[in-house]
Amino acid sequence: MWSFRNRGGVKLQYHKELSSERAVVNMPLPRRLYLPLQQHIGAPAIPVVNVGDNVLKGQLIAKAAPGLSAPVHASSSGTVVAIEDHVAPHPSGLQQKTIVIETDGRECWAELPSPITDDFPLAVTPRELNSRVAAAGIVGMGGAAFPSAVKLDLKSRYQLDTLLINGAECEPYLTCDDRLMREEAAAVIDGVRILAYALEVQAVIFAIERNKPKALAAIREAARQEPWIQVMALPTRFPMGSERHLVLACTGRETPARKLTADMGVVVHNVATARAVARTVRSGEPLISRVVTVSGRGVREPANVNVPLGTLVEDLLAFCGGVHPVPYKLIGGGPMMGAPLPSVRVPVVKGTSGVLALTADEINDGAESPCIRCGKCVTACPCGLVPVEMAQLVRRGDLQGAQAIGLQDCVSCGSCSFICPSHIPLAHYFNFAKGQSGALDRDARRQDRIRALIQARNERAAREAEIKKAAAAARKAAKAAAAAAASVTAEASASAAEASTRQLEETT
Ligand code: SF4
Ligand code: SF4
Repeated sequence: MWSFRNRGGVKLQYHKELSSERAVVNMPLPRRLYLPLQQHIGAPAIPVVNVGDNVLKGQLIAKAAPGLSAPVHASSSGTVVAIEDHVAPHPSGLQQKTIVIETDGRECWAELPSPITDDFPLAVTPRELNSRVAAAGIVGMGGAAFPSAVKLDLKSRYQLDTLLINGAECEPYLTCDDRLMREEAAAVIDGVRILAYALEVQAVIFAIERNKPKALAAIREAARQEPWIQVMALPTRFPMGSERHLVLACTGRETPARKLTADMGVVVHNVATARAVARTVRSGEPLISRVVTVSGRGVREPANVNVPLGTLVEDLLAFCGGVHPVPYKLIGGGPMMGAPLPSVRVPVVKGTSGVLALTADEINDGAESPCIRCGKCVTACPCGLVPVEMAQLVRRGDLQGAQAIGLQDCVSCGSCSFICPSHIPLAHYFNFAKGQSGALDRDARRQDRIRALIQARNERAAREAEIKKAAAAARKAAKAAAAAAASVTAEASASAAEASTRQLEETT
C-alpha cells in the first residue's frame, strides 16, 4: 500500500477521546431554525415559501437553482417568520439570505416520496435514484458540501470503476463519522450499496483509519455478506481523508494536478453521505439533520449530537452544557481544515461536521517569527509543494509565481502551518492567494468571454454584409437579364409585326 511516510503528512494529537465514547444523542427542537439558502457548493437555492407560510417537516422551502445547486427543506414544522440576511458559518462573517422558521413543536411531516424498500437490484433505475438524491438536497457531508447527485452523474462523463467510501475522519477531535459507523453500520452499508448501484460500479473500497478499531469491526461485520466491498484499514496520518490522498493510498492511482479523481476512475463519498442516501431512499426523508461532534476543552460536555439543520451554534453549545468562561477559539469543522466561526449565532448547516470550542492550550498559535529555513513545511506537505517558497511569493503579491510552483495543487490541509516552528500561518496565505487568483481567473474568463462575443458579433456582421452584397449583385444581374430578355422580346415582336404586315399587303 502507498504510504504517507515518503510523501508528507503529519502526526497529530487527536483528542478524539473527548467524545468518541459518547453515543449520538438527539438535540431537542430549538424555538427557531435558520436555514441559509446556500449550504452547498454552487448557486443559492430559490425560496418557494413566503413569510407567514406554515410549513411541514421535510417540506421543500427553497428549490435548487439552475446548474450546480441543491434544494433546502424545513427541518421541522412551524411558520416562516422571516427571509432575511443572517450571519453565515464562514470566517468572513458575511450575511447570507436565510429562511427563519418559528417551530410549533408538533413535528408534523409533509408528504414524502414513497420509500423504496425492495432489495437489490432496486425497482428504480440508477437515473431515478439520482433524481431522488438531488430532490432530497443531499450534499457531501464530510465538509465539502458538493451536491451528491452531481457526483453520481459523473458516470455519464467519466469511465468509473470504483466507489471509495471515506471513513478516514482524519481531523482531530471529530468523532461523528466514527459513531455513525459504530451505531448505524447496517444503514451505512445499505447506503454504500445504493451509491454503487446508482454509479453502476462493481468495486467498492471502504477506507477507515486504524485509530477507529470499533468502527472498523462494525463495518466489517455489516459488510460480511458483501465480498465486493473491501474494508481497508489505513495508517493514522493527516490528511489521509483528503480525496486525492485517499485515492492514492487505497488504489495506488495518483490524480494529476487539475484533474479529478473521476479521471482516475474513482468517485469518493463520505460515510455520512452514504447514511443520508440510505435514509432518503428507504424512508423518503430529505436531508434535514446531521450528526455533529461538539468538542474541545472549552465545552463542558463534549458530545455527538443529531442536530436539526438550522439550529444555532449557541443552542447546540447550550445543549452540551455551555462553554467554560472564555474559549479561545470557536471552529466549525476540524481544527486543521475547518474555519473559525464569526459568532455563536451561526446555524448548523449540511456541511457542519463539528463545532469546537478550543482553549488557549489547545491552539498552536504562538507569535509569528521569521522563517528559519528549517524545511519542515516542505517535508510535511503531502502534495510535494514547497510552502516556504510559495508563501514568499504570495507575500510579494506574485500570484503567478506562486501558481507556477503549484498554488492550485495545495489542498489547504494546514500541515505546513501546523509544523512550522516560526508559527507562520502558511495555509492562510495560500487560501487567501487561491481566493485572489480565483477572482483573477474569473475576471480573465469574463474578459475572454467578452472578447469571444465581440469577435462573434464582428464575424456575424461581416457574414451579413457578404450576404447583402451577394444579394445586391444577384438582383442587379437578374435586372440586367430581364432587360436583355425584354429587348429580345421587343425585337421579336417588331419582326413578327413586320412579317404580318407584309403578308397582309401580299394578300390584298
Ligand atoms: S496547506 Fe497546502 S502547502 Fe500546506 S501542507 Fe497542505 S497542501 Fe501543502
Ligand atoms: S517550516 Fe516555517 S520556519 Fe521552517 S522553512 Fe517552513 S516556513 Fe520556514
